[in-house]
Parts: sequence; C-alpha cells; structure tokens
Amino acid sequence: MASLAQTSEAETIQKRPLKEDVFDALHEKIVSGKYKPGEWLRQDDIATGLGVSMTPVREALDLLVAAGLAERVPYRGVRVREMVTKEIVEAYGLRMILEAMIAQEAAKHITPEQVRVLEKMLAEMGKYRSLKDVSHIRQLSREFHTIIAESSNNELLVKVYAVVANAFPDWLLYEAIFRKPELLKSSMDDMQREHTAILDALKKHDPEKSIQKSIDHLMESGKWLAEYLDVPAELIREKEEQASFLLKMKNKENAA
Ligand SMILES: [Zn+2]
Repeated sequence: MASLAQTSEAETIQKRPLKEDVFDALHEKIVSGKYKPGEWLRQDDIATGLGVSMTPVREALDLLVAAGLAERVPYRGVRVREMVTKEIVEAYGLRMILEAMIAQEAAKHITPEQVRVLEKMLAEMGKYRSLKDVSHIRQLSREFHTIIAESSNNELLVKVYAVVANAFPDWLLYEAIFRKPELLKSSMDDMQREHTAILDALKKHDPEKSIQKSIDHLMESGKWLAEYLDVPAELIREKEEQASFLLKMKNKENAA
C-alpha cells in the first residue's frame, strides 16, 4: 500500500504542469515584495532566471493576471497590479456583503465532504509558521475561502465572489508580514483561530454565527488595510457601516 501511494504521489508531481511551478515562483516574489506593485514582469528575464522556456512563463503570467495579482497592459506587457485606495475600499465593501451571503448559504448547504476538505486544509495551514511558507499559506487560504463559497451551492455567487476576491489585494497584506516579520506568528495564529471559528459555525449549520465569524475575519483584514497599507481608517469604517446597515448585522453587544 505504501509503495502504491508513493507511486501515485510521484506521478502527481511529474504531471504537474511547469506553468504552475513558474506561477508559484512568481507568486512568491510578489507576495514577499521582491516584485513591487507596478513592476514589469518581463517574460525573457523570468524565463532566463528560472531556466525555463517562454511558453510556461507566458502561461504563468496569464494565471497571475487571472488571479488578480498582475495586469496586462496592451502592447506593453504584464506588470504587478497596482491598486489605488478607492479600488481597495470598493473591493473590501463588496467582499463584506458577499461573504455574509456566502456564510449564510454555506451554513445551510455545506456537505460533510466539504467540511472534511476544509478541516484537512485547516490542519495543513496550521503546520506552517515560517516566512518561506507565507506564499503557500496565502494560496491555501484563498482555496479555503473558495471552497466555502462553493459550499453556498449558488453558482452565480461563486462566480461573483471570485471576481471580487481577485479584486481585493489580500496579497499586499501578506507582503506586510515580510516588512514586519515580528507579526508572522501572531497573524498566523489569529488567522487559524478565525478560520476555525468560521468552520465550526458552518459545521453547526448556524447561519447567524457563520455570518458573524466571517465578518469578524474580514474586519481583521480591514484593520491591516488601515495599519499597514495606509488606507484611511474612516473609509474602511464607512464600508463596514454600509455593510452592517445592509445586512442588519447585530453588533457584538447584542450577539453576546
Ligand atoms: Zn481567511
């Protein structure tokens, strides 16, 4: 049995397309701030640097654009996405409303299989606590939220969420950890605790609690936007108040 498992694992690694390895390498450089917002991602430089041909680099750049980390400028090439405050705040406000909807629907429709996958991912994310893992943690965490969105059993919501999640510069928040490595452990611990709380509420099929825990989690990134990306706190608060008005969210005092 063990050798069978090893064989299939080896096959999986061999079958992994090269473009995904190139994507991971570029993703790591963006998340760690080695490529700065606005910086051009030159195909030939990347191909030479990684010792690969142009095709996987081109495909990896497409993946980066699709994931919202880079943008294609006609006749110029691809560069790391640069975001202005207005775009960041808009994405934050929309995420707030969508995540609440997702949490509510997911609490009703999540399947035991999806719960099992999310539990496995939580355990996986809990293993990593070093700077070199941050890029991988970011990808896992994105996947975690995508699976929660899928568990809403609402295809249009999943699609809209993907657009909005890609518009939200969470990778810049991870980049802040590279500038302030002393935040690594506490932020990873907080994230793990918040993800666990969301999953617990979903497992209990408790829509109200799922909404609350999802919003709490998102508001933590709101604090980071203000603290480390210099987004004016009053603009963040404005979006939070708008969402709370629209969602008629109970405040913490009422919930307790
Ligand atoms: Zn998260």
